[in-house]
Amino acid sequence: MNKDIFLTNNLSNKKEKFVPIDEKKIGMYVCGPTVYDNPHIGNARPLVIFDILFKILKYKYGKNSVTYVRNITDIDDKIIKSSRENNISISELTKKIITNFNSDCDFLICENPSEQPKATEHIDLMIKMIAELINKGFAYESNKHIYFQVNKFKEYGKLSNKKLEDLVAGSRVEVSENKKTPEDFVLWKPSDDNEPFWNSPWGKGRPGWHLECSAMSKKFLGSEFDIHGGGIDLLFPHHENEIAQSRCANDTKVLANYWVHNAFITMSNEKMSKSQGNILRIKDFKDKINGQILRLALMSAHYKQPLDWNDKLLDECKNTIEKWYNVYLPLKIPSKIPNDALLPLYDDLNTPGYIANLHKLFDRANEGDDNDKKIFISACNLIGILNQTKKEWLDFKKKKSLISEEDIFEKIELRNKARENKDYKEADKIRDELLDKGVLIEDKDGKTSWKIK
Ligand SMILES: [Zn+2]
Repeated sequence: MNKDIFLTNNLSNKKEKFVPIDEKKIGMYVCGPTVYDNPHIGNARPLVIFDILFKILKYKYGKNSVTYVRNITDIDDKIIKSSRENNISISELTKKIITNFNSDCDFLICENPSEQPKATEHIDLMIKMIAELINKGFAYESNKHIYFQVNKFKEYGKLSNKKLEDLVAGSRVEVSENKKTPEDFVLWKPSDDNEPFWNSPWGKGRPGWHLECSAMSKKFLGSEFDIHGGGIDLLFPHHENEIAQSRCANDTKVLANYWVHNAFITMSNEKMSKSQGNILRIKDFKDKINGQILRLALMSAHYKQPLDWNDKLLDECKNTIEKWYNVYLPLKIPSKIPNDALLPLYDDLNTPGYIANLHKLFDRANEGDDNDKKIFISACNLIGILNQTKKEWLDFKKKKSLISEEDIFEKIELRNKARENKDYKEADKIRDELLDKGVLIEDKDGKTSWKIK
């Protein structure tokens, strides 16, 4: 389609036409997970949103034209703390969480990014970048720490619309007597004896968190690239600091041309986060629902709007996908998706608008011929939906019941006996066990019936 893609760019706070630096070599960098704990639904939103953007860019510009880099932060204070609390080594912890993270991405039907670099494999590049920043007068050493001197970079605060005075007045910065000015941020810090360290010209230590993205984006995408993404919580200070480090080290006018941020997932209108204690982990859905349902739910609101999470949303998405599978056909070659159907996706990733169009294409497919069905399925596939065969979908549903018919009858009998003995606690326990396995029990007119939930 010759239509343009538009994205809301946080650098200008406007929706802008996407113009790549080189349309055969589009670069997108998205900040990935800090691997100290298993990912939750809030972490899943950027995975799905930027996966869709990756797919759309490939659809428009060609499948070999886009490099999508998503890093893994495998050294960080939170990781050190978690390894101590769980009494396992840092490498064991990060290995385990990375495996779980990748499996969660598969469950959410996200494609692998082109590159998934780890911070600990790029410490040498970070040290090189710090040396450059010191040489150019943007960074200084103080008591074994290296700091970036924020007031040397005149455009600091442009992305987040913050002024230096306000930052200090609002105490949004960590105060330390090592710093020349309070807003300066750390590029390198010394490690204690029992903490991981790397050798550097400034002693044994480890990098500050912000630096890794500047080093790894440069390695894989160059000093200036097209799109930088992440959750809105990364806008300040993380992305602001990435820009300061990269632009000063590389002498460039920009780091990325388009800065795209997704909003939070909320529960009862409160942000879902570990510190709030209201998180739902992705892995806990794996035995209960098909990943497509979660995926559709995650794109049911526009990425810039908060998405309030609830069971009703999942039920609606489940019913939708169930209905859509009624017209499923295996596709050998994808059909062309009509331009008018695609428009919302090109218009700042308007996924709810696109889903509304999918409903219209479904209606056409339901009444039409195989060609209409193929168009509908191709349009679903573009956003990673209906790309399991109908058999896989039905198999999952069967697996969801996780129990044979024989066992169900046996359990019901045991429950009836418990009820006869007035052991209602035991009876309720059996009912809940069955429910956990997807079997719903109903008592009516002295008879017990069951169905798959
Ligand atoms: Zn980052």
